[in-house]
Amino acid sequence: MIQSTWRRSANGAFKPAGRAVTMAVRWPLMLFVSVASPVFAQMTNPPVTPLPPPPKANPTTITAPPVQVKASGPATQAPSKAPTALVDGAPVQTGRWALALHGGALDEVEKIPLERRRAMEASLNAALRQGRDLLAAGGTSLDAVERVVKMLEDDPLFNAGKGAVYNAAGGHELDASIMDGRTKACGAVAGVTTVKNPVALARLVMTRTRHVLLIGAGAEQFADEMKIERVDNRYFDTDYQFERWQRRKAQEAKEANEAHGSNGANGANGANGANGANEAKAKAATPDKKGTVGCVALDQSGNLAAATSTGGLTNKRFGRVGDSPVIGAGTYADNATCAVSCTGTGEEFIRHGVAHDVHARVRYARQSLPDAVSDVLRKTLQPDDGALIAVGADGRLVADFNTDGLSRGLADSAGRFEVKLGK
Ligand code: ASP
Repeated sequence: MIQSTWRRSANGAFKPAGRAVTMAVRWPLMLFVSVASPVFAQMTNPPVTPLPPPPKANPTTITAPPVQVKASGPATQAPSKAPTALVDGAPVQTGRWALALHGGALDEVEKIPLERRRAMEASLNAALRQGRDLLAAGGTSLDAVERVVKMLEDDPLFNAGKGAVYNAAGGHELDASIMDGRTKACGAVAGVTTVKNPVALARLVMTRTRHVLLIGAGAEQFADEMKIERVDNRYFDTDYQFERWQRRKAQEAKEANEAHGSNGANGANGANGANGANEAKAKAATPDKKGTVGCVALDQSGNLAAATSTGGLTNKRFGRVGDSPVIGAGTYADNATCAVSCTGTGEEFIRHGVAHDVHARVRYARQSLPDAVSDVLRKTLQPDDGALIAVGADGRLVADFNTDGLSRGLADSAGRFEVKLGK
């Protein structure tokens, strides 16, 4: 009997199994089978594994309906339509573009050695120039955010790619995501250990699979298939992050001891003991906020994009994933409203769906982008939780934080070009 079963091969693709029918008998058999198979299927076949649908790429090629270009729009009104401008199918170049990047939320900016601050500013300047030149030349926002984030990933000064923090096992696990505001296509990777530029792999997840998020070994296997640049995990090492890891471990050990001590003094179920333990837990979740990178951009066709990349939190548990690869938490983009990239205590950003919340406030509550960002940072999140950058559909740039600082750069077609670390 002809079995029409399918099996999954080692690489995950579906392949037909066992076809032992010769050409001589194939045609008569096929005719017979096509007539009789419904009957046979009912009588004898075990449930047939249905063929998986053909891999459907993310909707990267959707053509937006022609809409009018809005030269400028009050940021307080949510645009009712995507500002993608097409005339006879060709994108209209508005001449207007805007870009913001960040190199992470900062605590105690003044305590960062001056030399390091200068070096960070120089790196942010170089990345901002790259993004500016690309957008000014008519490049897409997606290319701009990927290019900028890749540059910052390659820079050992930031906690993404080279220079990523150490996890509790003494290694590096990297997370990244990217989102296209025109189509809402998005891609992300989490817990990758050998991918030199996680943001590039995230973009391939977006364009070459029907999925949004790949993790760990599966993401690495996908990287093999994509032939993307790989490195040994030790490539991500830096002395700076190693020292921070040592300090963090010592601090966490001390906090655990203190919590244990107060627990002993008050009995196993004593109120103070439980509070002490909770407090230690909460403190342990708070990062030294330095270094996650991100970029948001509006291109001359009115398309928004966002990307974020990180090594996560120092001494994080093996397998911990933060907000950066979670679409809607650390990254979001929608042409109708804004593009957002976050940095800070990932657990809080996930809990409150921060990046999507900024979008939703603009879209549904009709808040201006600066107000939406400020409310999320000051009314929803707690002081010191983190920071975010955003660009509106009208090119308005916002960089805001409830930490001591945010390493950031802002540029637009009106001539703005600035890099800052503190207030
Ligand atoms: N948000 C990142 C995470 O929690 C860390 C950071 O931004 O510093 O993984």
